[in-house]
Amino acid sequence: MRTRIFNVRLWDAERAVPTQGNVVIYEGHIVAVGDGGSGQPDDGAAQVDGGGATLMPGLVDAHGHLSFPVPGSPRGSDNQPPEETVLATVLNARAMLDAGFTGVIGAGSPKMRAELVVRNEIEAGNFPGPRILASTPTLTVTGGLNDNREMHQDIAPPAIIVDGVDACRRAVRMGFREGVDVVKINISGDDFFPRPAGRTTTMSEAEVAAIAETAHALGLLITCHTRSAEAVKYAVRHGAHIINHADFADEEALNLLEAARDRLFVAPTIGFLRLTQEEGPRFLGQKMVDRMRLDDCMAHNIRVHQALRRRGIRHVIGGDYGVKWMPAGTQARDIALFVEHYGYTPTGALACATRNGALAMRAAHGQDDTPDGLIRVGARADLILVDGDPTRDVAVLQRREAITGVMCRGIFHRNPQPAVHG
Ligand SMILES: [Zn+2]
Repeated sequence: MRTRIFNVRLWDAERAVPTQGNVVIYEGHIVAVGDGGSGQPDDGAAQVDGGGATLMPGLVDAHGHLSFPVPGSPRGSDNQPPEETVLATVLNARAMLDAGFTGVIGAGSPKMRAELVVRNEIEAGNFPGPRILASTPTLTVTGGLNDNREMHQDIAPPAIIVDGVDACRRAVRMGFREGVDVVKINISGDDFFPRPAGRTTTMSEAEVAAIAETAHALGLLITCHTRSAEAVKYAVRHGAHIINHADFADEEALNLLEAARDRLFVAPTIGFLRLTQEEGPRFLGQKMVDRMRLDDCMAHNIRVHQALRRRGIRHVIGGDYGVKWMPAGTQARDIALFVEHYGYTPTGALACATRNGALAMRAAHGQDDTPDGLIRVGARADLILVDGDPTRDVAVLQRREAITGVMCRGIFHRNPQPAVHG
């Protein structure tokens, strides 16, 4: 059955402004795009009146944590049992889709199988949710970020500890065997925790190389936690697909990123810094927020990502949403922050959230020629209807009620408000 959406204004990364048009969907893909008001009638198709809304590609969170505890949970992500972790993943996936996110790239699942089993059920049509690229738990070294063990305790960290190249290869192969799409690695520390600090590079280049070589051979996407300059360099040199944070990148790191800009994506995760500054004191206490030196990290982050924007880097949005003060489904805040802090135009920031995210989802297979994330024949039909013009006001995407329709895989998860005529 074909679905024809008419009475909409079309926007994607290749259009400066939304223009009147209509779109026909068949078997999960866009099969026709028409200009003008009602366009060619298509008698066999279900007719969906978009009510004059903007029809645009769905949003992609390229650094997702679908398994973080849901709002109101007494648990932290470090001590959430497997059962709650799977439930949280189901609930967060639905919240993301409701908010207009049709794609999520995992950036470390606390349990190896949590994201991938939910991905499988969503793909089978048993739960509503976005497309998910399921991640391994974070691979980190002893004493690295997410190794929260203490000598006197016998606890399992929300990460896989990989010391030495053999352990690195084994962890990647285990993820592949269980069915993940993404390998997440922590190469540097993070000022969010007392140690190791963000400027400290904890994983060796030989370990990064072993992980990358194995992941490339198995066709897995590699996403890296990199705050220090050296961590960025290791990640770029070894062919990582998504570089996260990069706050303390130096000139050499910026040059490496620029030289590799056609094969990688960068998630600046500005939302995490800004929202932790704003909301952190209420949730974590002022003392802890002061210790994180967010002002310092934010100043470096803005300088680096303004420079990367000018150098033509493909930025993507998302990053650590799902923590208590920035719940799943609020990731569109990043789009406004890209405009405010990095000097993006509204359409430039929207392109990061749509086209770049869709390309990042294909990155492991180098499918740069896909029309995904665009309103073009052949693209995956992952689309949202927005009551308003996001190119004039990107903040409209943060209002749940302004997202009047969400289509993923060619099926409306949330029907547009005007009646659907059969
Ligand atoms: Zn993260």
